Amino acid sequence: MAEMSADAPLPRIKRGRLTEPPPLGDVPPTMLAQVIRPHRYGEPAMAFAEEEVDTPRPGPGEALVYVMAAGVNYNNVWAALGRPVDVIALRRRVGATEDFHIGGSDASGVVYAVGEGVGAVRVGDHVVAHCGQWDSADPFIVAGGDPITAPSARIWGYETNWGSFAQFTLVQAHQLVPKPPHLGWPAAAAYMLVGATAYRMLCGWEPHTVRENDVVLVWGGSGGLGCQAIQIVRARGGIPVAVASGKERGEFCVALGAAGYVDRSRFDHWGIPTDWRDEAAFAAWAAGARDFGKAIWEVVGERRNPRIVFEHPGEATIPTSIFVCDNAGMVVICAGTTGYHAAVDLRYLWMRSKRLQGSHFANDEQAAALNALVAAGMVDPCLRRTFGFDEVGQAHQLMYENRHPVGNMAILVGARDPEQAEF
Ligand code: NAP
Repeated sequence: MAEMSADAPLPRIKRGRLTEPPPLGDVPPTMLAQVIRPHRYGEPAMAFAEEEVDTPRPGPGEALVYVMAAGVNYNNVWAALGRPVDVIALRRRVGATEDFHIGGSDASGVVYAVGEGVGAVRVGDHVVAHCGQWDSADPFIVAGGDPITAPSARIWGYETNWGSFAQFTLVQAHQLVPKPPHLGWPAAAAYMLVGATAYRMLCGWEPHTVRENDVVLVWGGSGGLGCQAIQIVRARGGIPVAVASGKERGEFCVALGAAGYVDRSRFDHWGIPTDWRDEAAFAAWAAGARDFGKAIWEVVGERRNPRIVFEHPGEATIPTSIFVCDNAGMVVICAGTTGYHAAVDLRYLWMRSKRLQGSHFANDEQAAALNALVAAGMVDPCLRRTFGFDEVGQAHQLMYENRHPVGNMAILVGARDPEQAEF
């Protein structure tokens, strides 16, 4: 693969076989898609290939959206690798017939067809899709449970097929929210998955929701989740303290509203600490964690610990997150990018009444609340780079190697250029 730089200007968006949108409501029998197949599992740059496939049709409660732009998320890095979950095999075990995966869990586009019983959206609506799917007849939901925690909940375009790396995507109609009119199609495709996830983490776990003047530590502040988290914390009057590797990323966080940043590359106490019975080694780990805590105080300007720690690196950072979290505070986590075996020193957890809370995507209300913040201009999608349809693999490769630009990325599908707002 040719060497790619995250910030290199794109030569020219290649449209390849992509054509003009068909007349509104006219659904062609086949469509182009960037497809993952099991024999290509591996490095994302090689895992996706353009194919012509049958266009799906909406069933009851569903809508078919002509994709103008698609967002890039880490979940389709995992899908491309085929691990930790082989998403194609997983679906085939429960009856799916397709032996391929069309990923993509963020989209902006135009509704082209709706299935039976759909009233909330109509053909021609300009929409953004959130990625939470579930069975509305799921007994857990019927009994009043939060749908995103239901046994039937799935992430569209990762756990389900027919995501947004295609000319048409199949969604459940409840996933659709109005596209903020001030945004171009690519920016509108860039924020929902990460933004709504961050919103639930920061606003969904009472009593640990962001309040005025709360210090909130945001890991990966310049990343997809982090850039949304910083802005949400600010919008609620909190004090976001970002973690970033290096000055450029850190300054991006400050420009977004972070009070400052801690450069994690100055520390080396990461990962699972040595057994607490090895007193000398454990003391060395604790010294690193204490220094990290002091770096947070320096940003805040006083000795205040974060009431909320916004976590996703996981294995490398959880011990530190638990350590620096304030008494009676919460570490809220939605991923384990660096690994899944996180060590928690239970002494800090119980003696200081700290909470370790899992969180996964969002429900319809939380996605709508995040969309309202974006529509009001209080949260920016932070779109920093747009790729052509034939560059889906390259965009995911950059993400896999942590060489992607700060903020978020999008893929042009129906849209011709990064600024296009009209249809
Ligand atoms: P991203 O854009 O790649 O940002 C992640 C950031 O984490 C990077 O910018 C990097 O910033 C930081 N990071 C990387 N390695 C690290 C390490 N060893 N220690 C500390 N920080 C490190 O990815 P994202 O879109 O924010 O997603 C992050 C994770 O959350 C992924 O695993 C994704 O699958 C998951 N996720 C889960 C949900 C959910 O609903 N459960 C939703 C969205 C995302 P620095 O190098 O500057 O520190």
